[in-house]
Amino acid sequence: MSDGKGRHTTTDREMFPLGGGATLIDTPGLRGVGMWDADAGIAAAFSEVDDLAQHCRFTDCAHETEPGCAVRAAVDSEELDARRVESYRKLQRENEWVAARADARLRREKALEVKAVSRALRAYYRDR
Ligand SMILES: [Zn+2]
Repeated sequence: MSDGKGRHTTTDREMFPLGGGATLIDTPGLRGVGMWDADAGIAAAFSEVDDLAQHCRFTDCAHETEPGCAVRAAVDSEELDARRVESYRKLQRENEWVAARADARLRREKALEVKAVSRALRAYYRDR
């Protein structure tokens, strides 16, 4: 995000009005921070998609080829703009990717921690 000093690295920015004057801004620079814990933000920005998604047959519906998809049904009947669904899906994918990456980092850190502790334990018993 701009700090007013011209450090603009954003290349591909999308804004999603949330209502009440708030706007969700999706920029590459915010990924990993801005999209962190963003499920609630996505649901708020795409409340109409999110509401429909509650009616999908499968709770993990990707709204692509699943049978009984309420979101696709709404797009087919032109109640819902297909571009909104695409943006919604894109944000969700990004959010999942960021979360998965953070998860992998946590696991790596945890593994290093365990290694350090077991090394310390070995040294402790060896030196007794
Ligand atoms: Zn669906």
